[in-house]
Amino acid sequence: MIELANANLEPLVCKRLREKECTADVLRLDKLHPVVSGNKWFKLKYYLQDAIDSSKNTILTYGGAWSNHIIAAAYAARAYGMQSVGIIRGEAPALLSPTLKLASAYGMELVFSPRNSYRSNDAALLEQQIVPERQDAYIIPEGGEGMHGRRGCGEILSLVPEGYHTHILCAIGTGTMFTGILNASSGKQQVIGIPVLKGMRDLGKTYENWINPDKRAGAVFFYDYHQGGYAKRTPELLQFMNEFYRLTAIPTDFVYTGKLMMAFTDLLTKDYFKPGSRVLLIHSGGLQGNSSIPAGSLEF
Ligand SMILES: *Cc1c(COP(=O)(O)O)cnc(C)c1O
Repeated sequence: MIELANANLEPLVCKRLREKECTADVLRLDKLHPVVSGNKWFKLKYYLQDAIDSSKNTILTYGGAWSNHIIAAAYAARAYGMQSVGIIRGEAPALLSPTLKLASAYGMELVFSPRNSYRSNDAALLEQQIVPERQDAYIIPEGGEGMHGRRGCGEILSLVPEGYHTHILCAIGTGTMFTGILNASSGKQQVIGIPVLKGMRDLGKTYENWINPDKRAGAVFFYDYHQGGYAKRTPELLQFMNEFYRLTAIPTDFVYTGKLMMAFTDLLTKDYFKPGSRVLLIHSGGLQGNSSIPAGSLEF
């Protein structure tokens, strides 16, 4: 089993919030666990439960060389006494990334899959082609996407006072966390998603089948905070993350939560939030991914 620490709610104190007569709290999911950090625990928990209920002793999942999901899955599988296989996008590198090194140290078997045959959405095919000896593994979709992931993410809101916040902001990768949170929201709360991938559009439609009809009206998306695309970064983003850290002592990651906080700050500056708004910011973790950028870029 996995020992989880408390994910505390941390109020932001700053001049701009006071000026705008708003409050903001950060839900520090990054503090939940040193390895299975942030939303990945919530996305994994019901998959692991389902694997156990199906009497599987191996999980198989997918990701890239810096994947928060891969490292979380490797750790969680070991904690549950299960074996794990990670199908990793790309050719086997001469040197493993710190993420993969750690996943391997937790016992995950790494199988590299050249990009042209990597199809995380065609799991059955991949499994047959690459790991015939793993036909019996329990497959967890890349990033913990899907029904069990959404169900787990709905529980994120059980960590904060029910219905207190007027707005909830979170980053969007697969949208699993966003839709899980939206479905668990009060119906009066606005749930704002910040996609970290370029070119996402019309997500209300894309996610239609995952969102409870009575919660649809609460969904809002801002598409222009991706900083060039997935895992792309700009000097402005890194500068913002450093400034945010100096002001709040909260570290962020450059793939998801840095972009989220930057979006929030921009929306606040542009008077998106009416006076009296109580904003909840989901710090979904992912700090280990910062080891993929040059040392010294960040002050934390
Ligand atoms: C995976 C991840 C996300 C994205 O979650 P989705 O459910 O895929 O949208 C956001 N933040 C962090 C830190 C993550 O690791």
